[in-house]
Amino acid sequence: MYEAKACAVASPTSPFRSVTIERRDPTPHDVQIEILYCGICHSDLHQARNEWSAMPTVYPCVPGHEIVGRVTRVGSAVKDFEAGDLAGVGCLVDSDGTCPECQTHHEQFCPKAVYTYNSPDRHTGKVTYGGYSDSIVVDQRFALRIPANLDLAGVAPLLCAGITTWAPLRRQNVGKGQKVGIVGLGGLGHMGVKFARALGARVAVFTTTPGKAEDALRLGAHEVVISRDAGQMAKQAGSLDMILDTVSAVHDLHPYLACLKRDGNLTLVGAPDQPHGVSAFGLIFGNKSLSGSLIGGIQPTQEMLDFCGEHGITSDVEVIPVQRLDEAYERLLRSDVKYRFSIDMSSLRSA
Ligand code: NAP
Ligand code: ZN
Repeated sequence: MYEAKACAVASPTSPFRSVTIERRDPTPHDVQIEILYCGICHSDLHQARNEWSAMPTVYPCVPGHEIVGRVTRVGSAVKDFEAGDLAGVGCLVDSDGTCPECQTHHEQFCPKAVYTYNSPDRHTGKVTYGGYSDSIVVDQRFALRIPANLDLAGVAPLLCAGITTWAPLRRQNVGKGQKVGIVGLGGLGHMGVKFARALGARVAVFTTTPGKAEDALRLGAHEVVISRDAGQMAKQAGSLDMILDTVSAVHDLHPYLACLKRDGNLTLVGAPDQPHGVSAFGLIFGNKSLSGSLIGGIQPTQEMLDFCGEHGITSDVEVIPVQRLDEAYERLLRSDVKYRFSIDMSSLRSA
């Protein structure tokens, strides 16, 4: 074991404090990474504040699953990484590797999946601690290769916001000739816009914040719809092949279902704790489907990163020091982030 520095909350209402945590020394299959940047996902806020009844938070909690950094040590059996390489870590740090889910690149659904934070840690007997830290140690199977041409602060959010939007867009075969709606222009939403556009689709952004309209167009949207304006919503009726809903709070899905074409699909990735009420009629008329999507497996995450390297895609980030974490969470709650906070982890040295 060795001591690492991290930022943790001690309860749902506590501010972040700098703490010392124990990390394992790399086993033969492990990679140790010095964390350079970590994105702030709205899931970090849900988890830090114990908002998910299905996943109670164990305190102290060190969030962070959008990790990019430099490899500092590798175990003797590690083949694909060496000290000095760039590496990324997303929402997963372990799985059994043998079950049908792992065999088909759906490690997130492995019964033994270990999440990057707030998951039982079989090495330490405690819980896993995430990327708001100066280092992390993970099994090599969960370390991702990072394209050399991309800005690292903007790469970090790809590890969750990137794959979470990429996977459902790919599953729905989004491409040329289709029209896609992205609901909510936050961390996930702005990546959804970039990917849907890069995949060749026509893109409409649905936002509650009129002040984001210009940015939506700059990020790649062809159209912007102010979702609280019934007139603007009515103009979209029956026009979309797919909608990706990234909203972090409960809201009415029916106005969006009405925007789908026949056989259209609404995929939920936003994860409020409370249920969305859905009328059967909203789906029956038009053979529409409602589905969900959880992050993505390791192979699709690598494919997404490689695609970003080829197309020069990164997240639009506001880089902050750890000293501004509490303020960043409050701004996230107000939908006031353009469009992802990325923590410069070197700031932890003076925390
Ligand atoms: P975020 O940056 O806070 O963005 C969420 C956006 O939703 C906001 O920017 C806002 O966009 C819109 N919004 C917020 N409150 C709203 C409300 N009351 N009514 C309507 N719109 C509202 O959050 P994020 O990091 O992108 O995460 C979004 C959600 O996805 C969270 O619930 C998170 O836990 C979840 N998530 C799920 C997965 C998965 O695997 N399924 C992975 C990561 C995150 P506008 O200002 O444009 O309206
Ligand atoms: Zn996330």
